[in-house]
Amino acid sequence: MTIRARDPLPLLTEAEASPRPRASATRAPTTLVCDACDEPIVGEPGGHGLYVWTRGDTVRYEEPPLCQSCAPTIGICALAGWDREDEESE
Ligand SMILES: [Zn+2]
Repeated sequence: MTIRARDPLPLLTEAEASPRPRASATRAPTTLVCDACDEPIVGEPGGHGLYVWTRGDTVRYEEPPLCQSCAPTIGICALAGWDREDEESE
């Protein structure tokens, strides 16, 4: 998994969300690729990340598909990060 410094942090939203192709992709849904590990997704995605960009008053959302392995891993990492933030603020 490669995370570039300027990429927004992918956050898991709904593990059981309906499959959607990448907003910027022209591929058919049958050739979805995991946004985290770039492996092809066979069948249903394991979940979706969430990217949010703002430019001026424009807010753009993207929910890239994640594979069955990356979706729970990223979700657990996000939860652990939120727990850490809660402990640090107490
Ligand atoms: Zn993956």
